[in-house]
Amino acid sequence: MKSILSLFTKVNQIIITLNAPHGVHLRPSATMAKIAKEYKCKTTLIIDAKQADIKNMNAILALGLQNGDKITIKTRGKDSLEAINALQNFLLTLANDETVQESTQDLQNPNYEGNISEGKGICGGIAIGVPYFYEAQYSKSGQNNISFDQAYLSALKELESLSEDNDIFIAQKAILESISHASYEEFITSIDEATKSLKDTANKVKIADYQDIARRVIKIMNNEKSLSFPHTPFLLIAKELLPSDIANLAKENIQGVIVRDLPPRSHAALLLRSYKIPAISLDITKLESTDTAMILDGSQGILVVAPTKSDLESANNAIAAQFSNSMSANEKRFEPAITKSGKHIKVLANITDRASAIEAKEAGCEGIGLLRTEFLFRETKPTLDKQVEAYKSIFSLFDEVTVRTLDVGGDKNLPYLTLPHEANPFLGVRGIRLFDTHLELIEEQLLAILKAKQNGELKIMFPMVATVEEFLHARNVTISLASKHNLSLDGILFGIMVEVPSVLFLIEEFNEVVDFYSIGTNDLSQYLFAIDRTHATLNIDPHSNVLYDAIKYIQERATKPVSTCGELASDSDAIERLVEIGINTLGVTPAMIPTIKARIRDV
Ligand code: PEP
Ligand code: MG
Repeated sequence: MKSILSLFTKVNQIIITLNAPHGVHLRPSATMAKIAKEYKCKTTLIIDAKQADIKNMNAILALGLQNGDKITIKTRGKDSLEAINALQNFLLTLANDETVQESTQDLQNPNYEGNISEGKGICGGIAIGVPYFYEAQYSKSGQNNISFDQAYLSALKELESLSEDNDIFIAQKAILESISHASYEEFITSIDEATKSLKDTANKVKIADYQDIARRVIKIMNNEKSLSFPHTPFLLIAKELLPSDIANLAKENIQGVIVRDLPPRSHAALLLRSYKIPAISLDITKLESTDTAMILDGSQGILVVAPTKSDLESANNAIAAQFSNSMSANEKRFEPAITKSGKHIKVLANITDRASAIEAKEAGCEGIGLLRTEFLFRETKPTLDKQVEAYKSIFSLFDEVTVRTLDVGGDKNLPYLTLPHEANPFLGVRGIRLFDTHLELIEEQLLAILKAKQNGELKIMFPMVATVEEFLHARNVTISLASKHNLSLDGILFGIMVEVPSVLFLIEEFNEVVDFYSIGTNDLSQYLFAIDRTHATLNIDPHSNVLYDAIKYIQERATKPVSTCGELASDSDAIERLVEIGINTLGVTPAMIPTIKARIRDV
C-alpha cells in the first residue's frame, strides 16, 4: 500500500491506494467506524467527488470501495494524528483479510456481556427497545353498545379488507362465516365448542384464531378503541399474542416481540415473520418493568435484559449491518445467484396465488418452484372456468412453473370439503390420497391446469407420494383426462414431492418414471422425526443432520433434477449446506428471495 502522509497542525491527511483483495465490505467498514469513534477528531474518507464520515459505517459502505481505489483519509481535531495512524494501520491489515465470511457473522451474532434470558427464536433479527407489557384482551362481558348482528357484519368486513394483505385473515373470515351466528349466545357457544374440540388435536394452534375472531366481534360490540402504544421504540412483552394483535402492532413503533406461548408454526408466529418483526418466545414471568432499553436477538433466541454499553454498541452495529445487507441484497435481487466458485443456484419461489406470484416476481425469483393450489380453493370451491383463469394468470407471469395438485388434509383443510374425522390426520387422507377419495375434485383441477397451460414447459407435481404405484395412478389419470378432452401433453413434466421417507428407499424405481423431484423439507422432517409440524411444544431441530443426510441421500441417488421447496431453503443458515450437498434449485418464500440470493453469493 502506497501512502503519502502530509501533516498540518491538527489536520492530517493521507492518500492511500487500497490493497484490499475482498474490497471494503461490512467488517472493515464496521471496524473503521469503531476505530474512528475512539477519537474526538472529525474523520472523513474521500474518493473522487464523494465523501463519508468514517464514524458512520453505512456511509463508508455506501461508497462501495474496491481493491485499487485511491482514497483520501482526512482527520481534523485535537487527536487527529493518533486517529489517522490507527486508521492507516488498520487499512494495512486488509491486504491479508481472510475473515470476510466469519466476521460478517460475528457482527450479525454479537456475544453479549450483560445478563441474558434464553428463549427460542421465532423471527430472526436484532431489536433494541424499552419493554412494554401488553395483555391481549378477550372478555365476554362488556357494554354491548353495538348489536351482535351489526358487529358480526363489521367483523366480516374488517377481515375482508385484512385478507387482501394476508392469507391468515382469509382463513379467519372463512371460520367466522362457518360459525353459527343466529345470536350472540349461539356464537359464543360455537367458539367455546370449537376451542374444546380442538384442544388435544393436531389443529390446536387454530384455537388462537377462534379466540381472535370472538375478540374482534366483542370489541366491535363494546365499541372498544384500539390500544395506544408508546411513541418511542419499544419491545412488546406478552403472555400470548393473537393474529390481529400483530396486524395492529405492525403499524406501531414496535421493534420486537417477546411472548411466553408462541408455537413456531402458529399463525401469530407466521405473521411476525411475514412482517419481519424480530421475536422470541421466552418465560416472561421474571421480567420487570423498566425504563432501560433491552436487546432482543431473535436469531440467537435471547433477550439481553441488562445490556452493557458495549452490548448496545454491538447490537446497534448489527442492526446497521442487517439494514445495509438487506439494502444491498435488494439492489441485486434481479441478478442471478452465483456462488464464489461460479455455480448458478436457481432461486424459485413458493407461492399460493396471483398476489404472491407478483410479490415473488418483484422479489427477483427465477420462476415458481411450488404453487400451493389449496389457497385458490379456500373459501368456496371455484368453478372450472375460475380455476383456469386463476392458473393462467399465474402461469403467464413465468417461464418456469411447478404446480402442485391439491394437498388437503393434515393441517390443510377446506371449509366445504368433508374429510372423515381421523385420529392422526397427518397420517391419514391427504395429498395424493385424494385421488382415491375425491377423484372428481382432483380431475377438475387437473383439467383446469391443462387448459391453462401456456407455451413451453409446465411441471405438475403430486404431494405426499409414498409409493411408485400412487404416482403412476395419478399420472395415468392426467393422461386419460388429456386424451378425453383432446388436450396436448406437450411440455408437461410429472414429478413428486419428496416428503414421505419411503421415497428414499424407492428412489431407484422412481428414477424410472418421474421427471423431477422436489424435496418438501417441512413434511419430510415431520415424518422423519414423527413430530407433528404444528405441535405447540415439541420442536423439530430445523438443522438436524438427519434432515441434511436425507436430502443428500436423495441428491446422490436421483437421476432426475432435484430441488427443495420446504421452509429450510428460506433460512440463510441452511444455504451453505444445501449448496455443498449439490442442490442447485431452491424454492424460497417470496420475502426471503433477495436475502437468500445474497447468501448464495457468499458461499
Ligand atoms: C413441505 O412439506 O415441505 C412443503 C413444501 O409442502 P407444505 O408445506 O405445503 O406441506
Ligand atoms: Mg408438504
